[in-house]
Amino acid sequence: MQGRIMSLKITNECIACDACREECPNYAIEENDPVYKIDPDACTECYGFYDEPSCVSVCPVDAIEPDHDNVETIAELKFKFEQLSSEE
Ligand code: SF4
Ligand code: SF4
Repeated sequence: MQGRIMSLKITNECIACDACREECPNYAIEENDPVYKIDPDACTECYGFYDEPSCVSVCPVDAIEPDHDNVETIAELKFKFEQLSSEE
């Protein structure tokens, strides 16, 4: 869990390959123009699912990086995960 202090964002390097959207366990990634977009309210940095953000590992052009405007603590990520889980 170390190092997880921010949600993630997609940069202009994105080539809209769709790989990350299918990998996101929270359905937090959507198509957008010109680059895909991560909903910070739905991204838990994969907390509760994987040890590392799965979108980052599948992006072929390294277009997903920490969002310094959305700094979050582990406790906040956990809370968000629990909220999203209870909605299902
Ligand atoms: Fe989805 Fe995980 Fe990427 Fe957040 S880090 S957008 S939850 S795949
Ligand atoms: Fe864009 Fe990378 Fe996601 Fe592909 S995997 S849609 S290049 S952010």
